[in-house]
Amino acid sequence: MEQLRRARLREIPPVNELSQHSRLRELQQNIAPARITECVQVMLNELRRQILAAKDIDELAHPLQIDALADAVYAQLSAGFAFRLQRVVNATGIVLHTNCGRSVLPAEALQRIVAIAGGYANLELNLATGERGSRYWHVEELLCRLTGAEAAMVVNNNAAAVLLVMHALAAGQEVIVSRGELVEVGGAFRIPEVLKAGGAKLVEVGTTNKTRPSDFATAVTDNTALLLKVHTSNYRVVGFTQMVSATELVEVSKATGIPVVEDLGSGTLIDLKCWGLPEEPTVQAEIAAGMDLVTFSGDKLLGGPQAGIIVGKQEFIAKLKADQLTRALRIDKLTLTALEATLRLYLTGSLQSIPTLQMLAVREEELNAAAEQLACELRNVVGKAADIAVIPEFSQVGGGSLPTADIPTFAVSIAPRVGTVNKLEDFLRSATTPILARIQHDKLLLDVRTLLPGDATIIAQVCSAWAEGY
Ligand SMILES: *Cc1c(COP(=O)(O)O)cnc(C)c1O
Repeated sequence: MEQLRRARLREIPPVNELSQHSRLRELQQNIAPARITECVQVMLNELRRQILAAKDIDELAHPLQIDALADAVYAQLSAGFAFRLQRVVNATGIVLHTNCGRSVLPAEALQRIVAIAGGYANLELNLATGERGSRYWHVEELLCRLTGAEAAMVVNNNAAAVLLVMHALAAGQEVIVSRGELVEVGGAFRIPEVLKAGGAKLVEVGTTNKTRPSDFATAVTDNTALLLKVHTSNYRVVGFTQMVSATELVEVSKATGIPVVEDLGSGTLIDLKCWGLPEEPTVQAEIAAGMDLVTFSGDKLLGGPQAGIIVGKQEFIAKLKADQLTRALRIDKLTLTALEATLRLYLTGSLQSIPTLQMLAVREEELNAAAEQLACELRNVVGKAADIAVIPEFSQVGGGSLPTADIPTFAVSIAPRVGTVNKLEDFLRSATTPILARIQHDKLLLDVRTLLPGDATIIAQVCSAWAEGY
């Protein structure tokens, strides 16, 4: 045993020798030589410790192989060097999957990002005069034309938009909100907390299920700054309910002289009913109803980049632009470029170029055909390892939008005959391009609604590798 131990110890290569191994020299383009040497050193020290600690003759039976050691160092270093942010295949059917980055950007937006961010741009430059310009100018007119508002501005996200409105228009004053609309959106964004962070004092009126216009009117004091309506985008109160509509709240606003603001959450510019989705108020409808300001997200139903869009009356937008917080919440050029490109698609009626809308609008026959095709490809590669079927299912919009909407879809179900469904799920999620699916009744479901071109091929390759493992 001790003889073996000494033999193994003698086989440990010098640090320099292993560091210069041809396999590791490939890495020198991306990784500093000192980092490679350090990793080799750590690895060899660990190896020496293991040899010295070995209690069983089996542990020392195999001679060390320098190629295998180089491979191990290579794997460790390249894993450390790999991108953390990765492309994934979203087979969950959740269109606005917040954990997967919500909206898939239109190709037009990507092209514009490359064109604009790869060089200098007139981000804050008025080319007509040569003087300093406003970054909001690039999208303000577009937003006004699309929503019918007088003025517009954009910030980092909708949470920032609400925060800014509170800070600029209601700091140190009262904001009246219905108890039925004090929502928490994902990531612990709570309306009451945002109001507080903006320096406003929340005045709750009505009850969870019923609030009347008169509740708002009687709560107005000398210190009231705003009436706030929050679109309850991630839940519904059903049964014995009464909500104050936008029109009713605007009437209270006119009667009391207190401005009225709506946090619309998802904020769609098109009527989703034509695709069989539940009714969702459009931004233009809320502006037409007389809202002074409306805030909404850029990456929810709009289908653009993460952004917070604020549209409404000129006098209030001017106050927001002048607020100190605006600088901290300001939108960057990548986002602005993508937003401009996305909004222009609405203006030209090119809705088929907006992936989020496409995924919501796709017809059932097309989904069925795509599911049948994927099922066929998968049957070919997995053989007897699993039973594959196409089943009718429901997709979700996600991102806290249209919570009660179950949109009919088709999914490919995989019932493994070998291993467990959890192991299959794990295998897909750990693939080079991770695949996200859901488990239901011991089957893995792949909803084709959210698959992008090329995804089916990736799924087939990974499933093939899974089946080969058995
Ligand atoms: C989603 C949502 C927000 C937060 O929007 P982000 O763009 O994610 O910051 C705020 N309010 C409502 C009602 C929402 O639905």
